[in-house]
Amino acid sequence: MSYDLVLENGEIVFPGEGVQRGSVAVRDGRIVAILAKGEAATATRVIDCTDRWILPGAIDPHTHIGFGAKEEDWTTGSRTAALAGVTGLMTFWRSDDLGRLTDPWREQGETRSVIDFGFHFGVTARRHVEEFPALARRFGVTSLKVYLMYKGETGRAKGFEEVDDALLFAALQAGAKVPGGVVGVHCENTEVIPVFRYPVKASGRMDLGAWDDQSPGFLETENVFRVAYFGEKAGCPVNIVHMSALESLDLVRHMRRPDRPAINVETCCHYLTLSRDADIGDLGKVNPPLRSRKDIDGLWEGVRDGAIQTIGSDHVARKRATKGPDIWQASAGFPGIAQIWPALVSEGHFARGIPIETLAATTSRNVAALYRLPRKGRIAPGYDADFAIIDPDGETIVHHGDYPSHSDYSPYEGKRFKGAVTQTVLRGRVLSENGVLTADHATHPGGQYLFRAN
Ligand SMILES: [Zn+2]
Repeated sequence: MSYDLVLENGEIVFPGEGVQRGSVAVRDGRIVAILAKGEAATATRVIDCTDRWILPGAIDPHTHIGFGAKEEDWTTGSRTAALAGVTGLMTFWRSDDLGRLTDPWREQGETRSVIDFGFHFGVTARRHVEEFPALARRFGVTSLKVYLMYKGETGRAKGFEEVDDALLFAALQAGAKVPGGVVGVHCENTEVIPVFRYPVKASGRMDLGAWDDQSPGFLETENVFRVAYFGEKAGCPVNIVHMSALESLDLVRHMRRPDRPAINVETCCHYLTLSRDADIGDLGKVNPPLRSRKDIDGLWEGVRDGAIQTIGSDHVARKRATKGPDIWQASAGFPGIAQIWPALVSEGHFARGIPIETLAATTSRNVAALYRLPRKGRIAPGYDADFAIIDPDGETIVHHGDYPSHSDYSPYEGKRFKGAVTQTVLRGRVLSENGVLTADHATHPGGQYLFRAN
């Protein structure tokens, strides 16, 4: 049997299932066979995967393409991902007029992105909720995001006038009408934040921990309760995006019931690896804030036992100049799409002993299931041939300059992670090899839009 590509004699990591030595055969962009160790196969290209993990390519469920350099982010962000074992991304797409402007934004992605991509619609007005069922069918989008952070004054400063609990509940009702519909929510009680923020600020503090103290974890937890409870009443599955606090996860564990709509939980690499005490100053400003070591430990346990389903980066590729002059004025968010695998492999697997197949599920199988991504998330015949090949004995030292991102810094700068991505493969096409982009990305970006049936 002849194939286009064979990944030969590696440790194949089946997400959520286990690890098995063998080879993966690819034809026409799809996986066509899993071959036992030593089974002969001829192929146009063979990649020797001895002592390597063959993992499903990561699909980052949480990115903000366009927050750095607008449409240019498609180019620089996706190439950064392609160097790091990330073959797909979901990005939050916000527009007053989703019906008119979604196609042009999608075309930018198709023209520029080297990895596959899909959208979550951002809800900032009643109009988005009313239009959602029709837009879901037209654009193949099954996920919404509501920003409780943008209530009241905070929202008005960004031009959003209609974010309140009524909008949240209406979004949940709209989500319940769409097959596979799920509403993601940024949970942070922005109305209570000032009670903490003003005294902390008045005290003259400028440290990273001050950002945690001005929006403590329980303000996330309180919103998590409201979102999960409303989700139950509206009959709509919810997704708590970028969960940061252990207390929030404990609450979700208590509220889950098999006969209720799902309460999904996503966390991000930085909530698993960087604490409020990290020596990175204003670079670590993010919403929700970085928390304590205890929160980090608790979230990892949630990853281990499956209470947390998905892990993303919350990638925001702004310039370093926006991360100052102090913690109060710095922009929130930072780049991180290239550190997904290093963080999971090094901190999750090697430091904490979490099985690699469990970690792989959070960035592939579970993302594909939650967002109905066609032919993604598994290593099995018929699925897209998307892979991250990783040398577990390698090492990744983070240097922002190694990536073509628009951002010119990394909150992980200088950090040493065990494990190194050696190849990224998207639908059978090798995108990068040993830190170098290999395909003819400039002329054939090749990223495809992920249209989700509903
Ligand atoms: Zn985000």
